[in-house]
Amino acid sequence: MNRIVRKFIDQAILNGKQAVVVGTGKSGLAAARLLDVLGARVRVADRDESVTPASLGALADRVELVTGEHRPEHFADADIIVFSPGVPVKKLAPVLAGIPERKLVAEMELASWFIEAPILAVTGSNGKTTTTTLITDILEQAGRRTFTGGNIGVPLCEYLLDMEPAEIIVLEVSSFQLQNCRLLKPRVGVFLNLSANHLDYHEDMDEYLDAKLNLFARMTGEDTALVHESLRPLLEGRAFTEGRVQWFDAAERFAAPHLPGEHNKSNVEAAWQAVRRFGVTEEQAAETILNFKPLAHRIEPVGEKRGVLYVNDSKATTLDAALAAVRSFDRPVRILMGGVWKGGDVARFAGDVKGRVVQVGLFGGAREELEPELAKLFPVTWDETLEKAVQRLASDAAEGDVVLLSPATASFDQYNGMAERGADFKRVVGGLND
Ligand code: ADP
Repeated sequence: MNRIVRKFIDQAILNGKQAVVVGTGKSGLAAARLLDVLGARVRVADRDESVTPASLGALADRVELVTGEHRPEHFADADIIVFSPGVPVKKLAPVLAGIPERKLVAEMELASWFIEAPILAVTGSNGKTTTTTLITDILEQAGRRTFTGGNIGVPLCEYLLDMEPAEIIVLEVSSFQLQNCRLLKPRVGVFLNLSANHLDYHEDMDEYLDAKLNLFARMTGEDTALVHESLRPLLEGRAFTEGRVQWFDAAERFAAPHLPGEHNKSNVEAAWQAVRRFGVTEEQAAETILNFKPLAHRIEPVGEKRGVLYVNDSKATTLDAALAAVRSFDRPVRILMGGVWKGGDVARFAGDVKGRVVQVGLFGGAREELEPELAKLFPVTWDETLEKAVQRLASDAAEGDVVLLSPATASFDQYNGMAERGADFKRVVGGLND
């Protein structure tokens, strides 16, 4: 066990308290373990009835397990309720009625109470993983011992329990988690951008923005809020933080030959502005940025066939991400779109990509949302599967074109996630004739 946790056991702040953890995934189980170690009585609640005590491993005889539809009596006696990152807390409102908001805590927030190292946290609608990974690489190569987690990788509670304390904690934070973060106080918080996203969950853009701003709510004068210029109109004049606010935008400061597009210039600048606050020099950052390769499924070239470049941007689940991808090519783009709709202004997107996109191949879901506006400006076809749509665009494509999978949707109508969708694209491209 990490020595930080040991210290807090002595302080006994959760000793004897009734805790409920919602969700029994990696983060939920890590939270349950932490609460158990800290002396709380722990109940874990999962909707999924196939979860059994055996699924809880070593925790099985230490916690109470309730499965099936959540019910008010699962929560009524709780002193603290901890949510796994994927849990749509708002949808639980009926069963949580009457429970004060301060008792509702994100897994990451719980862990953050016990973290002593400075936290560098990244949020935004698009670019979080890219920027977080770049920040970690720069810090590590400059000799700083970091832990990176949150939305990606290891849950923060697991870090506390099982890992040696790091010098700097780098977190990727989603708006879901931020809704239940009240004390999280990053030394540096990065807000990359805001686009229509998760509007199937958040009431409206204001609520989505309010969640994101929780990242800065606890900052004091020693902390820095790095905020993208595009957010200035929304935030200026609004007292969202007591930290120092610094606006940033895409810059030409560094050579980043493997990171295409204007949007990546902005991600790189955000990363630089963040790491320089931890003593990294411009030379050190430049070296890492020069060699940094895009992560899989983010504008990832997967092959060239008959002079046509195939690019996998399966991670693009919003129209803004798809727009960023289209803009990063100066070749005609044939774009593959479709899946589970998450919201956004299709008419605006269509106008923004005019002159770059020459064909739209829709596949799977979201046809009703996408086709009417796109068909006003481009030839649009629809196929049931990604495979058929790729084959169609491949046979229409001319030498010099790009066939880009940048679907602007979630993948769950046909896949178990964006990585599976990207892998399927690669498979289909692999089978096309050279
Ligand atoms: P996130 O973790 O926020 O989903 P990723 O780094 O995984 O972000 O990138 C998601 C998608 O957004 C990719 O398609 C990527 O090309 C695109 N993207 C990355 N950075 C930006 C940005 N600053 N603005 C718009 N789109 C971006």
